[in-house]
Amino acid sequence: MTNGLYDVVIVGGGNAALCAALAANEAGARVVLLERAPQAECGGNSRFTSGSMRFPYESVEDLRPIFSDLSDAELANLDFGTYPQADFFDDMFRVSNYRTDPQLCEQLVTKSYDTARWLAGKGIRFIPRMAHAFKINGRFKMAPGLASEAVGGGEGLVEKQTQIAIKNGVEVRYDARVVSLLFDGHSVRGVRVKSGRTTTEINAAAVVLACGGFEANTEWRTRYLGPTWDLVKVRGTRFNTGDGLRMALDIGAAPFGNWGSCHSVGWDANAPEFGDLSVGSGFQKHSYPLGIMVNAEGRRFVDEGADLRHFTYAKYGQVILRQPGQFAWQIFDKKAIPLLREDYRIRRVTKVSANSLEELAKKLEGVDPAGFLAEMQAFNNAVQTDLPFDPAVKDGRATTGLSIPKSNWALKIDEPPFEAYQVGCGITFTFGGLRIEPDSGQVIDLDLQPMPGLYAAGEMVGGIFCFNYPGGTGLTSGAVFGRIAGNAAAREALRLKGDRRALA
Ligand SMILES: Cc1cc2nc3c(=O)[nH]c(=O)nc-3n(C[C@H](O)[C@H](O)[C@H](O)COP(=O)(O)OP(=O)(O)OC[C@H]3O[C@@H](n4cnc5c(N)ncnc54)[C@H](O)[C@@H]3O)c2cc1C
Repeated sequence: MTNGLYDVVIVGGGNAALCAALAANEAGARVVLLERAPQAECGGNSRFTSGSMRFPYESVEDLRPIFSDLSDAELANLDFGTYPQADFFDDMFRVSNYRTDPQLCEQLVTKSYDTARWLAGKGIRFIPRMAHAFKINGRFKMAPGLASEAVGGGEGLVEKQTQIAIKNGVEVRYDARVVSLLFDGHSVRGVRVKSGRTTTEINAAAVVLACGGFEANTEWRTRYLGPTWDLVKVRGTRFNTGDGLRMALDIGAAPFGNWGSCHSVGWDANAPEFGDLSVGSGFQKHSYPLGIMVNAEGRRFVDEGADLRHFTYAKYGQVILRQPGQFAWQIFDKKAIPLLREDYRIRRVTKVSANSLEELAKKLEGVDPAGFLAEMQAFNNAVQTDLPFDPAVKDGRATTGLSIPKSNWALKIDEPPFEAYQVGCGITFTFGGLRIEPDSGQVIDLDLQPMPGLYAAGEMVGGIFCFNYPGGTGLTSGAVFGRIAGNAAAREALRLKGDRRALA
């Protein structure tokens, strides 16, 4: 038993946990962070990301304090557009079919810019996210709202956050799997943690659960998401098996949000079972708006140009999973190939090339060649060429007369060489989670009462995302709610000790 050493225990080692640890430490609490993974695999899904975060800004002036390394000349070469809070709200409401919880969404949107500045102030360095940019008339047009990424991507973000936390006095333990909460029937006052063969208890006045969803738990995926979800690949960490959700539900916490859905993408069909840190997010194949996707029958099954990539990619994984054989091929020709994202140029890629569509048809493993050639002809005949192609905006260049339209970026696929990439479904994270108090991150029980001593952040929070997701919001959500929960947990702990800092 470890008594009296800590005020706040943080469970998890990703972005949400580290932001909670930084905030609790800043508020004056003695903090221990318990990460289930060994140090070599620490950092959760956060480490697999590109480090890009969504937040609003009115002009480039708002971005200056965040991109502190960039000169005026460098900034002048980049067209960030604007991304007012109203646009962030609209995006959240639209992609969730108006089901995002309004109070959680309000916190997310209104606190995200401040939180990015808070991280920058702590020493996290951000640079413009060029992977989402297109060069137009000599200037780079950035994706509004998705303007930034942490230096070193997710890996750099987690490493730097950990360094800062340790430097400020947070104790970080690896190989420390929290197995249950110390609950006296009213309050949570610590955790039981297993390291190797030893299980010990750590007492603390407050616990922040930031230990991910259940995406890496095959049985839970099948139970909550449904049949065939046992067959998907996990894009990130193997350690997010729903431990924190189980612990909290076991003592009466209320589940909340969209437990039957998740974030999932088109992911290389031959990617490994779990994420591989040496590849990171490279198995994703997100340039489908520049081409088409066909299934085993050779048929298109989705509007590849329905919206900008970062508003459709997170829901198309599950559409691929519903296809016969649970796979699809993405098809591109000479015009689109130079525009494909960097993910298409990694070494571990399932790709075929051909100099004619007939040759390509024979190479698409698992696909009916006649069906494919008929589909290509129908698609090419339906492409309207009156509007110019512009990959940076919704260009309205569409098909006509097809039962499944392509609403933007419709280019005929008729110029060799042709390339095709095989994808399956890769799960990113689950949307269902715990019900929390939006202002404090405190977990709510089934009687809708706050649970003393228990807080949650990151993927563990239910009610924010539903059906779909705007790119770059996972890290933002983890940072916003991690900061809120860490601060509130520290205040509860200090209040119990009679520490005056809790009143500050
Ligand atoms: C390949 C990939 C790319 C992505 N790209 C982006 C992006 O660019 N931008 C973006 O915003 N989002 C992105 N996301 C989503 C983003 O990673 C998540 O939404 C976010 O990082 C979740 O943060 P978190 O701290 O809640 O969870 P995680 O970062 O997953 O951290 C959970 C932690 O809990 C630990 N843990 C689990 N069980 C226990 C236990 N019992 N005891 C102790 N510790 C435990 C895990 O080891 C892990 O360290 C991406 C995800 C993936 C997989």
